Amino acid sequence: MSTLREILNQQVRKGDLYEKLDRNRVRCYACGHCCPITDGQPGVCKVRFNEGGTLYVPWGYVGGVQCDPIEKKPFFHAYPGALAYSFGMLGCDLHCGYCQNWVTSQALRDTNAISPPLQASPEALVQDALRQGAKVLVSTYNEPLITSEWAVEVFKEAKAAGLITGFVSNGNGTPQVLEYLRPWVDLYKVDLKSFDDRHYHELGGRIGPILDTIGSLHQMGLWLEIVTLLIPGFNDSADELHRLTEFIAGVSADIPWHVTAFHKDYKMDDPENTRAEDLLRAAKIGKKSGLRYIYAGNLPGQVDDLENTHCHHCGETVILRSGYFIQSYRVTPDGRCPKCGESLPGRWASKFDGQIADSPFLPHRRLHLVTILN
Ligand code: SF4
Repeated sequence: MSTLREILNQQVRKGDLYEKLDRNRVRCYACGHCCPITDGQPGVCKVRFNEGGTLYVPWGYVGGVQCDPIEKKPFFHAYPGALAYSFGMLGCDLHCGYCQNWVTSQALRDTNAISPPLQASPEALVQDALRQGAKVLVSTYNEPLITSEWAVEVFKEAKAAGLITGFVSNGNGTPQVLEYLRPWVDLYKVDLKSFDDRHYHELGGRIGPILDTIGSLHQMGLWLEIVTLLIPGFNDSADELHRLTEFIAGVSADIPWHVTAFHKDYKMDDPENTRAEDLLRAAKIGKKSGLRYIYAGNLPGQVDDLENTHCHHCGETVILRSGYFIQSYRVTPDGRCPKCGESLPGRWASKFDGQIADSPFLPHRRLHLVTILN
C-alpha cells in the first residue's frame, strides 16, 4: 500500500508561484517562508516540491469537505446566515502546538494525523456546494496559501456559478501570492496568533509577513476579519494585546476582531482553557485601542453582548447572535443601521434569507468524492 506522501506526490501539477534559480533550485512564493528548494526536495510545508527544477504543487484532491455557517469561519460582517461550503487540502507552513485542524494540517509531519485525501474536481466541488444551498465557498482546514493554485482553480469555477469565495488563513503571505489571489478571493480571515516575533518562531513563522499581509489585504479591498485565539500565558498579556489591537486599529478601526477562547488541543495541553473573563478583558483592551467591532468567540452565551453587532454610531443592536446562531437581523438592504442610517462596514446581502444552518454538517461527501487511498 502506498504511503500518504507517495499518494500526494502523484496529486500535483506544475506551480505558478515560483521562480527558477541556478543549479536547478527554485524559490517558492506561495507563503512568507519563500523557500529556496533544491532539486528533489520539498519546501517547509512538505506538500510543494522541486523535481528537476520545476515546482510541483498539490492538485485534484481535498482533505475534507464540510458545510458550515459562515459565522463559524468566523465572518460576522459578510453575508450573515449564509452557508459556507468549506474544503481543505493537506499540510501547513506552520506547526502550532494547539492546532484545532491538526489532522489535516499536520498530515505530513505527524503520523498520528491520518486524513485520507478524496479525489475532487472544481466542477464537482462547486456543484456539491450549489446542491447544499451554499452561497460561499471557502478554502480552509489546512493553510490555503500553500495550495493557492488549486484554490484559484476551484474559485474560478465558483465565481462562474455566482458564488462568493473566501480564505481562512494564517496570513503568512507574500506580495506575489496576494496579487495572484486578488481577482478570485472576496473574503479573507487572518489568524493573528500573537504580536511577538518570538512566539511566531515557536509556531514556525515570523510576524513580519503576517502584518504585511494584513495591510495589503485591506489596501486591496478584500473583506478582512481577524481572529486571535487567546491562550493563557502565551499571548494574553495586557502589553501584547495593546500592541496587537493598536496595530489592527492602525490599519482600520472597522476591521472586525474576534478574540476566541482556547481549549486544550493537540500538543498544547499545559495552559488552562480560556475563561469568559479573559475574553472580556481582551475585548476591553481592543476597545481602548479604538477597534469598533469586537467579538468574543467559543463561549456562547457567556460573554455579555460580545456576540452581537452594534451600530458604531448610535449603539443600536443590528445583529443579535448566540454562538453561530442569528437570533435577529436588522441590517438594511444597503448595509446600514436601521435606526440612524450609518453605513456598516462589511459585505451585506441585499436581503437576509434566514440562516440555512447554525451548526456544521457534512455534505453527501461519499456520494461525490472518493478516497484516493486504496
Ligand atoms: S508554500 Fe511556503 S513553506 Fe511551502 S514551499 Fe512554498 S514558501 Fe515553502
